[in-house]
Amino acid sequence: MDDTSSSDKPRIVLMGLPRSGKSSIQRVVFGKMPPNDTLYLESTTKIQKEDITRSFIDFQIWDTPGQINFFDPAYDSLDIFSSVGALIFVIDAQDDYSDALNRLFYTVASAYKINPNITFEVLLHKVDGLSDDYKIDTQRDVQQRMSDALQDAECDYIHLTYYLTSIYDHSIYEAFSKIIQKLIRELPTLENLLNVLCSNSGIDKAYLFDSLTKIYIATDSSPVDMQSYELCSDMIDVAIDIETIYGMTDRTQTSTPNGLRTLTDEAELNQLSPTDSNELEASHSTLAETMKQKSSTSNIPSNESEASSLIRLDNGNALYMREVNDPLVLICLLRQDNFEKHGLIDYNFQCFKEAITDVFDFSKKHNTHNHTPAPTE
Ligand code: GDP
Repeated sequence: MDDTSSSDKPRIVLMGLPRSGKSSIQRVVFGKMPPNDTLYLESTTKIQKEDITRSFIDFQIWDTPGQINFFDPAYDSLDIFSSVGALIFVIDAQDDYSDALNRLFYTVASAYKINPNITFEVLLHKVDGLSDDYKIDTQRDVQQRMSDALQDAECDYIHLTYYLTSIYDHSIYEAFSKIIQKLIRELPTLENLLNVLCSNSGIDKAYLFDSLTKIYIATDSSPVDMQSYELCSDMIDVAIDIETIYGMTDRTQTSTPNGLRTLTDEAELNQLSPTDSNELEASHSTLAETMKQKSSTSNIPSNESEASSLIRLDNGNALYMREVNDPLVLICLLRQDNFEKHGLIDYNFQCFKEAITDVFDFSKKHNTHNHTPAPTE
């Protein structure tokens, strides 16, 4: 079959019944499609492959038609699944999911026999239409039914991870962040570097983001709370929105003026009319709320040419963003008082950046595509 032809990159395969939301997820997360536009997506009839290559992220994502059975002899299932790093099974949580669970069981049991190193990820998707109680009940029910089925088949050693997701909020990005982190072999090193940075710079929480997808590839070991993740992720949107409005149009220009390459300065930000800023933030309610209360936003002059940006929140916290390398950015949440030691933070950031570059260069030199997931704690 032509459309299953190989590439040596690890694969992330999206599977699930037709109309469960697979193509929408791929387009929204990796193609920046506005969620509402997915209403007009045509049904996928052949495998859609996309290479995602960035710092520390290097894989091929496959969107598969729901009606295909890859374990049918017409397909070379050995070739397809031996290179799979993560199998993401999407279930429409707004629909009756009994058929989806049967398919999930069959898929997981068959794929595991071919490649036991696959990480199996289950997205209970489209939960935007469900109440919080109903979401929890649905997850519990699905988990219970799958665990019973696997136990009955004496396959209970197969581990599935469940996520409640929607393309209309941050949940899909959070889920993908966790899924992709399992495939990043350098994760423990990146986490250690972030821990050292945080503890020496008075930073409460730090995320290393891929700014193109809003996936965070690592964070320090303090617990992730959804609110801090949303705030940091919204900061990328604000930077990009402002860049789109006020930034240089020629992104290939070598000089990096300011901001996320071209983030506007405070004076320009203040020129935004209330309507402009409402539009900017319409789809980012968390930040929109914060921005209404925030006291100021500014760019920080830096010795280096890379971008940096600061948002002061009126609860005494600040969000600080620094570009590590395009498209990697570091976003930190810290007390404004601690930002007084801004020189120290900047110095530590430079050390952090050099260390990240070393890790990346080392991996590139020694990297053979390795399909074994990174160790989890
Ligand atoms: P596929 O056949 O699995 O690739 O499914 P599609 O991506 O074509 O999506 C089917 C329908 O589900 C489309 O109308 C999407 O707009 C809708 N959809 C996808 N994700 C979500 C979601 O998170 N929430 C809601 N409410 N609808 C979604």
